[in-house]
Amino acid sequence: MKMEKFENRIWLASPTMHGDEMKYVQQAYETNWMSTVGENINEVERIAAQKAQMQYGVALSCGTAALHLAVRHAGETLYGKAPIGQGALAGKRVFCSDMTFDATVNPVVYEGGIPVFIDTEAESWNMDPVALEKAFEFYPDVKLVVSAELYGFPGRMDLIKEICQKHGALLVEDAAEAMGATVCGKQCGSFGDYSAISYNGNKIITGSAGGCLLTNDIEVANKARKWSTQARENAPWYQHEEVGYNYRMSNVIAGVVRGQYNYLEEHIAQKKAIYERYCEGFKDLPVQMNPIVKDTEPNYWLSGMIIDRDYMCKQVRDDSTALYIAETGKTCPTEILETLASYNAEGRPIWKPMHMQPMYRMHEFITRSGSARAKTNAYIAGGAPDVGADIFERGLCLPSDNKMTPEQQAIIIEIIKGCFQ
Ligand SMILES: *Cc1c(COP(=O)(O)O)cnc(C)c1O
Repeated sequence: MKMEKFENRIWLASPTMHGDEMKYVQQAYETNWMSTVGENINEVERIAAQKAQMQYGVALSCGTAALHLAVRHAGETLYGKAPIGQGALAGKRVFCSDMTFDATVNPVVYEGGIPVFIDTEAESWNMDPVALEKAFEFYPDVKLVVSAELYGFPGRMDLIKEICQKHGALLVEDAAEAMGATVCGKQCGSFGDYSAISYNGNKIITGSAGGCLLTNDIEVANKARKWSTQARENAPWYQHEEVGYNYRMSNVIAGVVRGQYNYLEEHIAQKKAIYERYCEGFKDLPVQMNPIVKDTEPNYWLSGMIIDRDYMCKQVRDDSTALYIAETGKTCPTEILETLASYNAEGRPIWKPMHMQPMYRMHEFITRSGSARAKTNAYIAGGAPDVGADIFERGLCLPSDNKMTPEQQAIIIEIIKGCFQ
């Protein structure tokens, strides 16, 4: 096979437009609905809710905003309205996914909450229900859980929900990566008391930016809409009783999102084909692709893999650099990512777990077998790395752009095979 540098970069995941988007953007322009009000926004809310099997959608500037409004509302519901300037979760512990994008956790901190990280399950790469149960043993008074689906390959979010209900806790489902995926036939985004999806530029469909809060509670939807537009009271002037935000989605962005929804299923089919080609291409390599949990159907957003431990060459990472020692028959994520980059293709490390992040080094982290305060302590206490640290060490995300051709992907596969030689 000819192995030259790709002339055009092969992306991890880039926006894929189809033309319908422009029609709705054009409509917004021609009718001068160029603000945060308009038909595109109404339609996005309707379609998003319908797609995710929830009653209400609130269109917002990004998925992080949806998570923020969700955790604030949950905080006020659980603990009452906080004094001005104090977060709704001030001083309260919140159980959070550990191996995820930090946008899952940031909103908890915006509201003064204290994230307690729950380890990852090896079988699903998502929050470990066993570790979550353990966490409730340690802290039965915790009343909020924020759980994300990883790379569009959900774990058993239905079990996470059951555990939350058993302990009287509210669930915020971060379905930003999982739009269109299902668990036991139910859409991701339908499990939380509050759910968030994202239309960020690299997600399975995109508005260039944007997000949506999903809920079955009309009070939540109304409150979120009010807070997202600076929390104006119903009065002839600007009247305010509580703090608000400028989080509303623009009707122009909503036009792009509205057009993209027509292609969600097509994008999922393309991503699935990419995943399956990797599975086939790597069947003789000592690697495992993202696990697919029984009774779930992923949206296949990002294909990822981990290298079997016996085939890992020596790799060391500190807070900003990575080194490895090349070895025949072995490789590591750093070597593969550097090799892909040298061919003009983009891969990524797995999300670095939150409990390994410097800003959270003093935070609690709960594994199946018990609690550990910080990564170093976990190693001292237990020896073996926790599941999240292990997947981070051995794993990477592969180029998963839905415009990558099968021929290009075949080259990517050969490049990666070469790293094992
Ligand atoms: C992308 C993402 C978000 C944030 O969405 P934005 O729209 O970029 O704010 C939140 N959580 C997870 C897991 C994500 O991947």
